[in-house]
Amino acid sequence: MDYLKRCLADYTEAGRYRRLRPLDARRDGRLVVAGNAGDQSLLDFSSNDYLALSQHPDLVRASREALERFGTGVGAARLMSGDLAIFHQLEREVADFKGCAAALLFGSGYMANVGMIPALVGRGDVVFTDRLDHASIYDGCRLAGARLLRFRHNDLAHLEELLQKERGAGRGLVIVESLYSMDGDIAPLAELVALKNRYSCQLLVDEAHATGIYGQHGGGLIQVAGLADQVDMVVGTFGKALGSYGAYVAGSQELREYLINRARSFIYSTGLPPAVVGASLAAVRLVRQHPEMRQQLAERATYFKECLIKEGLPGNPGPSHIVPVMIGDGATALRLAEECCRVGLFVTAIRPPTVPEGTARVRFSLTLNHRLDELAEVARLFMATCHRLQISVSF
Ligand code: PMP
Repeated sequence: MDYLKRCLADYTEAGRYRRLRPLDARRDGRLVVAGNAGDQSLLDFSSNDYLALSQHPDLVRASREALERFGTGVGAARLMSGDLAIFHQLEREVADFKGCAAALLFGSGYMANVGMIPALVGRGDVVFTDRLDHASIYDGCRLAGARLLRFRHNDLAHLEELLQKERGAGRGLVIVESLYSMDGDIAPLAELVALKNRYSCQLLVDEAHATGIYGQHGGGLIQVAGLADQVDMVVGTFGKALGSYGAYVAGSQELREYLINRARSFIYSTGLPPAVVGASLAAVRLVRQHPEMRQQLAERATYFKECLIKEGLPGNPGPSHIVPVMIGDGATALRLAEECCRVGLFVTAIRPPTVPEGTARVRFSLTLNHRLDELAEVARLFMATCHRLQISVSF
């Protein structure tokens, strides 16, 4: 037990201590925390509920209907008796949404990555990952036992250098995200496809943060680039812009059947709750039908970045609705995030090991819950807080 205490003390000292903050309510982009001095209401900039769908009446209704029709749980893995026809319905609609032949549901994005990657590669194979890939991708790679080589973020020259030197004779897998969750920037997908073809590798793209946000029908950045038939495996989650929970892998029909036979997080885990699948199905339909939601989110993100620039934030903002503000030191990022909470803005400090050492930041995630008219005031309040604490910040 001394070991646990010592670790926690070390985390505190390094500014890495993480704590939970239970909310009493979450509604319309506001978080309510009950306290001795009354309720505190915070504007939420930490949510991935980008299109504000998690409380949308269509999703709630579909979820309730599925709940009443099928009950609260399926009681078994899908390969046992836990498979429902609506799971297959959702898989067909997701495949169509992503422009792929087939899709397979997983319990979450985390489970998709830790289940799929070890099914695709193992000892004797090599995986090339972007350094900023999500933890679930790295955990999948560790479980796979394949050689792991990390290239500098979005650095194609570095990736090619590694491919040239280290590709080897086994299977090769390149893994990237299409929109990076911590930096809010975008992978050069067409060039990655060319490289993976040149070096006979497979390409896995995690579209967790891009699905629902980009493309005429919300299919994501792969679709915008017209590469749906060139990317071998796509991961997406229902827990972010789609406002629900769970995830999928999309690709070929053979990929789907292979994963049903090989992905352990699929085989050995209970099927998703029907209410969750009902909500996901409603979300996919809604997102396809409402391109104006994507347009509005892009407008709000652009406006917010303009407001921050006007308030004096230096540097160049990234291209998306994920807006990191760089600080450097973890403890300082934490101090700023805590002060932001005190003034009514819920932004989280993102610190190592989630991001590389020296690149701690606070991150604003824009959603459709943020009104245009309040974003200018948020930018003013945030920059005033930075000045008051004498913390220097940049895009
Ligand atoms: N991949 C990426 C890129 C992510 O950002 C996340 C969630 N933060 C996941 C996978 C995991 O998805 P889920 O929350 O559905 O487990």
